Amino acid sequence: MKLQAPVTSALPLRARNRVESSSREPEPEARPGGLRLIVALLLLAAPLVVAAWGLGNYAGQRERNNADNWLAGILSSGAAGGAYHRAVADTANAANRLAHHRRVQLHFLRGTSRTLVWKATPEGRVTHWFAAVPREAVVKTVNVVSKGRTVGQVVVFLPLDGALVQRLTQAAHVSGRQQLALATGGSLAGAAGTQRIDSGARTLGPSPSDIRAGGVGYRAVSADLGRAAGDTKLVALESSSTIDAKASSAEWRVIGLGIGLVAALLALAYAVSPSIARTRVSKEERERSERVLAHVGDGVFLVDRDGVIRLWNAAAEAITGLRSDAICDRPAEQTIPGWGAILARVPVARRPGDVDDASSAETVPLEVDGREIWLSIVGVRLADGTVYAFRDVTRERRLEELRSQFVATISHELRTPLASLHGAAMTLLEREHDLSGQTQHDLLDMIAVQSKRLANLVEEILLAGQLDSGSLRVVMEPFDPEELVWTAAAAARLRVGDDTTIDVSIPAVLPKVAGDPERTRQVLTNLVDNAIKYSPTGGRIRLGLEVDDGHARFTVRDEGLGIPLGEQKRIFEKFYRLDPDHRRGVGGSGLGLYICRELVRSMNGRIWVDSDPGEGATFTFELPIAERVAATA
Ligand code: ADP
Repeated sequence: MKLQAPVTSALPLRARNRVESSSREPEPEARPGGLRLIVALLLLAAPLVVAAWGLGNYAGQRERNNADNWLAGILSSGAAGGAYHRAVADTANAANRLAHHRRVQLHFLRGTSRTLVWKATPEGRVTHWFAAVPREAVVKTVNVVSKGRTVGQVVVFLPLDGALVQRLTQAAHVSGRQQLALATGGSLAGAAGTQRIDSGARTLGPSPSDIRAGGVGYRAVSADLGRAAGDTKLVALESSSTIDAKASSAEWRVIGLGIGLVAALLALAYAVSPSIARTRVSKEERERSERVLAHVGDGVFLVDRDGVIRLWNAAAEAITGLRSDAICDRPAEQTIPGWGAILARVPVARRPGDVDDASSAETVPLEVDGREIWLSIVGVRLADGTVYAFRDVTRERRLEELRSQFVATISHELRTPLASLHGAAMTLLEREHDLSGQTQHDLLDMIAVQSKRLANLVEEILLAGQLDSGSLRVVMEPFDPEELVWTAAAAARLRVGDDTTIDVSIPAVLPKVAGDPERTRQVLTNLVDNAIKYSPTGGRIRLGLEVDDGHARFTVRDEGLGIPLGEQKRIFEKFYRLDPDHRRGVGGSGLGLYICRELVRSMNGRIWVDSDPGEGATFTFELPIAERVAATA
């Protein structure tokens, strides 16, 4: 049986069964199909871009919220409001102070004018004012009374103008894009000047809202300045366009960053796609190889450089009965019985295909749990160990043994009678006239006996062949076993000397047995012949017949050599002899008991032996009974 060296690239790479793949691993296609890859990348990119867009919008909205919070924070600190109230208080103080000033009082007593007006600065300084008091101003008026009569009026006003707003801005530490303003009756006084509120004046309040003033849009938050201030409100504002610009810049920053990341991701995916494809292809390759190895009929195993088994396929398990989990990752020396001897004999090729000669596969025995298995095995060296493939050739080996046994036994069995025949015939031919009548008769008798022996041998061989091929006809009919036993005993008595007695023990009433009477006689005669043959010093041979449980049991008991316990099963095998070299001088083909067993089996019976070596042997075979017979006393 020829074994092909295994192909290394077909080995699976399981974690435990790690095998470095060979250089002949098939190259996967460099990049998965272009269109498919683009579609896959787009499918991957679309949700990521949407997510980046969403994040950008969120960042923009956050920026707007931050701006609102900043504005609200300016007012909620109270610094600007405090500065405003201080400035108003300073104005009131200045009015009081002036009203009590001696020169002011003299001025009124002289009756030059009834009203004196001062303009106050946010810092509390006052300057005479000779024009009309502006509308957008906080006005403090104090009457100057003399002898119960109001002689004049001191008016000090604080303009709600850029100077005041600057003062408030400094107090609240407002700088940068945010500004402070004072809103009064539709106008907005800022640090840079006063302008009209075009729209949104009504929505001004603690919640951020949009207003337009002087043609510019603002985001504004306002706080009331108390009843004394009338409808004047302190306003924190920031230009809407600045906020929009900041929000949109944040928005695009995030979107740009997101899209950049997506692009980088796609580029990376595109770059690594060949290796992903290669990994996938080699994974599929490995899985396919694993499947192939699991289903291949030959046992395959890998032994690494340290002598540790790294792979043991399903066929190896099935053939040897050694399980993969008990074998893998353990030294072959410890797990495969007789590995050292096997290793020394197995041929190992350098490359698959090198071992191409049928004789290269070595047949080695392996004994597992008392069972002998013959393996035809070859190895191929890999970079990291040796992979072995083997096949179970136990059957072939057994047949080969049988063939050798057959040749040895038959040639031996032929040689003795042929030599006798030749000698007798030559003597008769050459010295016929010199021989007495008795001698001539003896020689002719020898020719008859030896030719009969040869005929019997040929008969046995033919019968064994028919049993093997299943072509032997066996009739099944009821027959009388008693008559058969008596006849066999009578025939045996004619063949034995005085030192041997043949006894028969049979119950009084016997049922008929179902079987072939001729074949049964053949079995019985064979057993009796063996009993005579293997009782070289004679003794008692007993033929018995018993009926039990639907079976008739025939026994042949002798007091001869007996059979060792370990051989009792094997003597029924074809050509098996306890004394194959005929050292005891007892001849035989080793076919007799094999024929007996096969004939009994073909009649639905069974045969066995009980024996103590040196004490004789008892052969028993049983056949089914054909009918039950009522026992009579
Ligand atoms: P053979 O032609 O050698 O007798 P058999 O098949 O009849 O072949 O028997 C097989 C072997 O069994 C014999 O070689 C012998 O060693 C052993 N054997 C058979 N019958 C007996 C017996 N009655 N007593 C001892 N040994 C026996």
